[in-house]
Amino acid sequence: VLEIRGLHKSYGDLEVIKGVDIAAHRGDVVSLIGSSGSGKSTLLRCCNLLEDSQQGDILFKGEPISWNGQGLARRPSDSKQVLRIRTNLSMVFQQFNLWAHMTILQNVMEAPVTVLGRDRAEAEVEARRYLDKVGIGDKCDAFPAQLSGGQQQRAAIARALCMEPQALLFDEPTSALDPELEQEVVKVIKDLAAEGRTMLIVTHDMKLAADVSDTVVFLHQGLVEEKGSPDEVFGNTQSERLRGFLAATR
Ligand code: ATP
Ligand code: MG
Repeated sequence: VLEIRGLHKSYGDLEVIKGVDIAAHRGDVVSLIGSSGSGKSTLLRCCNLLEDSQQGDILFKGEPISWNGQGLARRPSDSKQVLRIRTNLSMVFQQFNLWAHMTILQNVMEAPVTVLGRDRAEAEVEARRYLDKVGIGDKCDAFPAQLSGGQQQRAAIARALCMEPQALLFDEPTSALDPELEQEVVKVIKDLAAEGRTMLIVTHDMKLAADVSDTVVFLHQGLVEEKGSPDEVFGNTQSERLRGFLAATR
């Protein structure tokens, strides 16, 4: 579904992604791990077209959404098309990004109504269904500030799911949470993995990566240093750097 080929990305003179290849097939869960500054968030942001890259291609459902052209990254110039891609490849951020002035229900319904043009009543039924699914069906009328961090993150996940995306991108969805709240969100992610959702997950939670992933990718200074099944990556890696990283996260 999602294919990244030979991607390069710089911020000014700083080359952050130095030629990365990653593929997620339908139903795959791919976890991205690596130390701070290795380029994990940048990579996700490129997939979601929040950043331009300089070289390489990103294909979504076989269609190039960012591609190489004469030393310049190209992407759809039509903002409607970008929105359509972002809708299908929905991103969940570390800091939930809920709208503070709207109730949880309104937060979840907003995009289906305004972007997909859904009927309000139908969108509301769907929104309630997804909020139930992530276990906060009773919080529909609360405002984000009235929820715990774990509940807010679950609302953000419901909001992403409501768009019925073909793939989900998670950027450290649990890192802003206390350990016990983190487990609530981990459970939701595990349920989504069990449903066969296609997901690319940046996480510092090695247990989550080991539990849900088909493939784990270890990024080191903008390059894929190691890639494989959780057994391969966490079991007996040849990479000295990965071993060092894993030892440090324990
Ligand atoms: P973390 O685990 O801390 O979230 P990360 O792997 O997600 O790290 P990135 O956020 O992708 O790392 O950042 C990679 C590098 O790019 C870092 O050196 C960072 O300082 C730099 N960087 C990120 N965003 C920008 C930006 N908007 N402008 C300039 N440099 C940036
Ligand atoms: Mg990051």
